[in-house]
Amino acid sequence: MARGQGHRDGPSILRYIRAAAHQHGVDRRVRYHRRVVRAAWSSSDARWTVEVENAESGELERLTCRFLYGNTGYYRYDEGYSPRFEGASDFGGRIVHPQHWPADLEWEDRSVVVIGSGATAVTLVPALAARASHVTMLQRSPSYVMSLPEHDGIADLLRHLLPERLAYPLVRWKNVVLTTFVYQLCRRAPRLMARLLKKGVASQLPADFDVETHFSPRYSPWDQRLCFVPDGDLFKALSSGRASVVTGQIERLTGDGVLLDSGATLDADIIVSATGLNMQMLGGMAITVDGRPSTSPSRWPTRASCCAVFPISPSRSVTPTRRGRSRRTSPPATSAGSSTTWTSAVPARAGPSHPIRRSRGSR
Ligand SMILES: Cc1cc2nc3c(=O)[nH]c(=O)nc-3n(C[C@H](O)[C@H](O)[C@H](O)COP(=O)(O)OP(=O)(O)OC[C@H]3O[C@@H](n4cnc5c(N)ncnc54)[C@H](O)[C@@H]3O)c2cc1C
Repeated sequence: MARGQGHRDGPSILRYIRAAAHQHGVDRRVRYHRRVVRAAWSSSDARWTVEVENAESGELERLTCRFLYGNTGYYRYDEGYSPRFEGASDFGGRIVHPQHWPADLEWEDRSVVVIGSGATAVTLVPALAARASHVTMLQRSPSYVMSLPEHDGIADLLRHLLPERLAYPLVRWKNVVLTTFVYQLCRRAPRLMARLLKKGVASQLPADFDVETHFSPRYSPWDQRLCFVPDGDLFKALSSGRASVVTGQIERLTGDGVLLDSGATLDADIIVSATGLNMQMLGGMAITVDGRPSTSPSRWPTRASCCAVFPISPSRSVTPTRRGRSRRTSPPATSAGSSTTWTSAVPARAGPSHPIRRSRGSR
């Protein structure tokens, strides 16, 4: 990351990832343009067979493995969440979902309505406001928004004073501790934090701005995600008059824009639906276990993390010993008719510190 900069734009993040992957040889171990479409577990072979579609040739490739890790995120990226707006076909302008941003979209001197006030909307509004005639952020209900400095002065100082190998871990820990502290404060003293967050917003907006209507959520901070804006760029756009925020329910879209249930109308040439993404488990792969489709939501316990309960060969499972060394285990005793399965986050020959979980097959 470049000196002093706390937040980066898409192209520089991509450059960084490419450089880091190349430096560590990761890029040579990745098969690109492949989509996993199916994964089938066979108990008799104790193996997964994974079907992969080559996006360039359309061919199906098969891979087998003992352990299958689904680091596929939790969103469906090929399709944004697009609520159905009454009258959408009457609208004379363009309706755009950020997930499918058209390369030819021109917003210079156009009026834009951005629907939503999540992370995507608060990022888009100041960026669009720089060239649009006006941008309206239209929200159903307010979110907490907090400004963070674009430049990290402490990180700069540490990098100036210390060698990189010391400075970087310290900066990382500073960020971890600070984030945890703010989060804990929000959970333990929600009223105080709500007041402080609103005060922070008010201090960056004109004195007559209606903070109570537009930036006072009904929930406590971190009940839902807190939105961060670098150097208050959203508030600068709102203060300049190039952007505004409207809180209300959409009645329908019209030929010229949006009609709210209050009766107010918002003119728009472009409507951006910053309404989020659909969730998707395991990248949409079809999973089968011994030929049977395995789609039961009970197999997806989610708490701090997601994990799937699938069988692996019990005779090859590993349980960490108290001293941290792994030992092979024999299959657990099962009563007739009940199948106990073993799940693991790690390969059977994993090293000492890896967790292994045991669970009932019915979970
Ligand atoms: C608009 C937006 C803004 C966000 N802002 C922030 C932020 O400011 N800070 C923050 O910490 N987090 C942010 N997040 C959340 C963050 O992006 C996720 O938490 C993080 O990316 C999850 O990482 P992951 O590796 O689990 O999954 P992902 O980053 O989603 O990676 C999943 C990978 O799996 C691939 N994949 C999926 N299915 C298949 C398949 N069937 N076959 C082959 N490959 C497949 C995908 O192509 C992708 O490369 C944001 C998310 C969104 C959508």
